[in-house]
Amino acid sequence: MISGKNLIEGKWEHNSNAEQFQTVNPKTNESLSVAYQQASTDQIDLAVNAASESFDFFGSTTFNERVFLLESIQEGMHSYKSEIIATYRAESALPDGRANGEFQRTIDQIQSFIQLLNEGSFIAASIYTKGPDLRKMFYPIGPIVVFGASNFPLAFSTAGGDTISAFAAGCPVIVKAHPYHAGTSELVAQVIIKAIKKCNLPLGIFSHLGGKSHGVGSLLVSHPLIKGVGFTGSFSGGKALYDLAQKRNEPIPVFAEMGSINPIFILENKLKKDCSVLAEDLAQSVTLGTGQFCTNPGLIVICDPSGTINLAKKISESITDLELPPMVHSNIQKQYDKQLATLKRKDKLDALYSSESCSATIGSVKASKFLNDHSLTEEVFGPFSLVVECSSTDEILKLAASLEGQLTITLLGETSDQQVSKKLLSLLKTKAGRILFHGVPTGVAVIQTMQHGGPYPASTDSRFTSVGTDSIYRWLRPVAFQDCPNDLLPDALKNENPLKLERKVDGKMNSAAL
Ligand code: NAP
Repeated sequence: MISGKNLIEGKWEHNSNAEQFQTVNPKTNESLSVAYQQASTDQIDLAVNAASESFDFFGSTTFNERVFLLESIQEGMHSYKSEIIATYRAESALPDGRANGEFQRTIDQIQSFIQLLNEGSFIAASIYTKGPDLRKMFYPIGPIVVFGASNFPLAFSTAGGDTISAFAAGCPVIVKAHPYHAGTSELVAQVIIKAIKKCNLPLGIFSHLGGKSHGVGSLLVSHPLIKGVGFTGSFSGGKALYDLAQKRNEPIPVFAEMGSINPIFILENKLKKDCSVLAEDLAQSVTLGTGQFCTNPGLIVICDPSGTINLAKKISESITDLELPPMVHSNIQKQYDKQLATLKRKDKLDALYSSESCSATIGSVKASKFLNDHSLTEEVFGPFSLVVECSSTDEILKLAASLEGQLTITLLGETSDQQVSKKLLSLLKTKAGRILFHGVPTGVAVIQTMQHGGPYPASTDSRFTSVGTDSIYRWLRPVAFQDCPNDLLPDALKNENPLKLERKVDGKMNSAAL
């Protein structure tokens, strides 16, 4: 059952004076019955203090203890699956297939961190014995605030990648639940706290706070005992939280994954050869999840010197009868409608094709116009994409050079386009975290080699990823021990290598004792 209360150190705390809010079914626009209490300043303080006090213990737990915690969370998620999915669907109106797919993805993400912990090499133990004895490894940074993301109520929220990677690192977590899916978030929080109790870990390692005003998130990020922040959402939200964190007496890292228009470049010969297939694939990618993916392709740049291939019109033919679920919240729909209304203004674009059965829309504009209107590079969050028509290689290179940082860029070309591909690639490497040469960018595999994060403004720190097991490095920092007695060293660095880890010893990887 959902209580609507805030979870602090294992207790669901009631506050009769709290401001309250409800979640809304985006399909019916009806408010759901539970009233959620906004966390008070005192509750925020209690949660952060509990996290800080539990850090020393949790940060020193063995990898096996953390594996047990993650496995217990997985088990709990399975036990409460039907309740979680029902609430997810009521709060997001996302279809059953998506709900189940995202649930499974969340379970699989947890599994990938279990494997990481079982293997252990992420702490990067390294030893140098040929001068001063220097031994180094990663340590957790401390209590982390995780903001649930509206567009992924499970996979990027309460037990999503941010929380699980922080737990795997040994960091306590305070989740600021997203107010659009507060019920789903609470159910998952119930699972997490039960798992913590089962594993006899300190209850302060996890708190779950609600709120529908920026106050709760701002107070959390400003709290002196918080050491890091994980965020997925709007540019304005991520940047505001980043600025807040840098103004603290002790600035802390904010790993905010914000907007991206994920440009797709289609070179001349590829466009000529595969135009129809590309149009169909792009229509599907742009409208997937009603366009509410961070990797949604919002910009399609084509090289068409003949000026005869109307790709935008072709894509629009595949969306004209499409039916899409509503967006996850009416505020997101309103923002989308507002941005489309601006684009419809006379002279802004050359053409705008709207679906007859849903809000999917495809625009088209000549490159010369696009290059003179910076507002056209802004993310339109939803099932929208803008086709930009270039008439020459020079124009396509100029456009590529003008782009800001992106999560992904896709470069589609034939072997006969390779000369242009080469020139473009050397530019695009500086612009994106992930560069694709086939297919579409929607679909983000949760594996070690994934990069989900790009140069600003796509994210606040392009050196890190928020998807895949490497996301753990956001919550770790290196500590070196110089001439430390063997008994005082952490197990990972001891001469006898009791954890049997692969370590770099005097430049060579091995798991032998010293
Ligand atoms: P959001 O406005 O960025 O909010 C996400 C979370 O951050 C919420 O919990 C919100 O807290 C908090 N927050 C936002 N601004 C804050 C501030 N200035 N200070 C403190 N906390 C702040 O995102 P959203 O609610 O999911 O959707 C709004 C828009 O964001 C969408 O229309 C879309 O354009 C964009 N969006 C982009 C992506 C992406 O991946 N690129 C994903 C989701 C949304 P409160 O709830 O307390 O306000």
